[in-house]
Amino acid sequence: MLPSLPFDPSLVLIGGSWRSTTDTLPLVNPSDGSTLCQIARSTEADVDAAVAAAQSALDEAWGRMSALERGRCLTRLGQLVLEHTDLLTTLETLDVGKPVTQARADAIALARYCEFYGGAADKVHGETIPYLDGYTVYTLREPHGVTGHIVPWNYPMQIIGRSVGAALAMGNACVLKPAEDACLTALMFAHLAKEAGFPDGALNVIPGLGAQAGAALARHPGVHHLSFTGSVQTGRIIQTLAAENVVPVTLELGGKSPQIVFEDADLDAALPFLVNAGLQNAGQTCSAASRILIQRGVYDTVAARMAEAYHAKRIGPAESDPDIGPLVSTKQKMRLETLLAAAQNLPCIAETPMPADLPREGAYIQPRLYGPVPPDHPLAQDELFGPVQVLIPFDTEDEAIQIANGTIYGLVAGVWTDSGARQMRLAKALKTGQVFLNNYGAGGGVELPFGGIGKSGHGREKGFEALYGFSTLKTVAAKHG
Ligand code: NAD
Repeated sequence: MLPSLPFDPSLVLIGGSWRSTTDTLPLVNPSDGSTLCQIARSTEADVDAAVAAAQSALDEAWGRMSALERGRCLTRLGQLVLEHTDLLTTLETLDVGKPVTQARADAIALARYCEFYGGAADKVHGETIPYLDGYTVYTLREPHGVTGHIVPWNYPMQIIGRSVGAALAMGNACVLKPAEDACLTALMFAHLAKEAGFPDGALNVIPGLGAQAGAALARHPGVHHLSFTGSVQTGRIIQTLAAENVVPVTLELGGKSPQIVFEDADLDAALPFLVNAGLQNAGQTCSAASRILIQRGVYDTVAARMAEAYHAKRIGPAESDPDIGPLVSTKQKMRLETLLAAAQNLPCIAETPMPADLPREGAYIQPRLYGPVPPDHPLAQDELFGPVQVLIPFDTEDEAIQIANGTIYGLVAGVWTDSGARQMRLAKALKTGQVFLNNYGAGGGVELPFGGIGKSGHGREKGFEALYGFSTLKTVAAKHG
């Protein structure tokens, strides 16, 4: 059951006012299948109103606010998020089926994004450029204007923090469309933004269906930049819709990220990262290490130790803070089961035990470790988005690089080796947006630019780099003689 909330979850926030929509959708707790509440099903008219409210904010108080004041609003918002960590944690646990510890880490990361971008807001600036005699030339960093943010359900708080946080820091006015399976923390964030003193319309939140509210936002001519995180399939639709209006798009899409273990690696250090980076959030992580490439001399040892770790994991309802909770919905569970049909002839070397008393209506799926798996097998190529990893043996460094680069994705890679020279060679050779050497994921990394190449998307969010993406550069050339 939901705790008492300081807002009505069936409403949208537009122009600083909570409003009802013509229709609503049920929000389901994936741990037991119960309906938590109704959320708004925003229509095209709601999207129009949200975009108009954002434009008004830019034309009025929000557009006139100094970078210093914008930063202060964000810093206050970060403080409020920290003060409401317990409620945000509970909402994410119930709404997304995220174990309590992980949900709490996401709430703290959301606060951290607000602090980081609050502090950065007045530190991004243009330059002067030496030019012809008699000229002064300089550049201005300016907001795009109205930015649309379409986010998925797997890490709602972190993704809102990294995209909306950076966009607000640069003075954009945001229209946020959370995923239909994960709206509550987005609405709570909007409630706290009002309390933090953001002017009306600086942040608007319109829950609803992707094909309805999401598509209406992506094709809206009043939107000047789109930030999308989600599947490749939807990313393609968003980019096509944005192309009609010729607006820039940041796409953070999926991955099939490898961790590569060489024979000289410190296996004790690597083991927790190899397993947890695959099973965290029940594998529903874009940068999940879903492929583990292991040099043949240590293959059996690594496989046996990973299998042991799988057997020791605890599955349960998210509220009981297990290692692994349910998937976000029964729809995702059915999708994964269909993809796993391709695994029938593969050796499954470990399955985490399923407790007998799991709620029958919950979206639970048994974590599975497969190996050895041929690198071109669908299970080693397709993003599964669930608690499943494949082990792939290799002999040489060149072979490891070839296998690691051998999918359509390029988001993150991890390398475990004692050799400094090999670390440097692989950091260059791996075709990904991030490479981790003797670690993986680096604990959230608000400061670290993140994004993909290939079908993992384009553009960078997180870190200082995001501030350039959420702004545009104007060159001013003055001839004064
Ligand atoms: P999804 O693409 O189905 O949905 C993501 C968002 O897009 C949701 O808000 C949804 O309502 C909206 N949407 C759906 N159809 C739309 C349409 N036609 N027009 C406009 N908006 C639409 O993805 P998902 O199932 O929610 O998330 C899982 C996927 O997201 C995985 O592939 C995962 O790898 C990816 N992901 C990537 C990152 C990253 O940073 N690279 C982070 C998280 C998730």
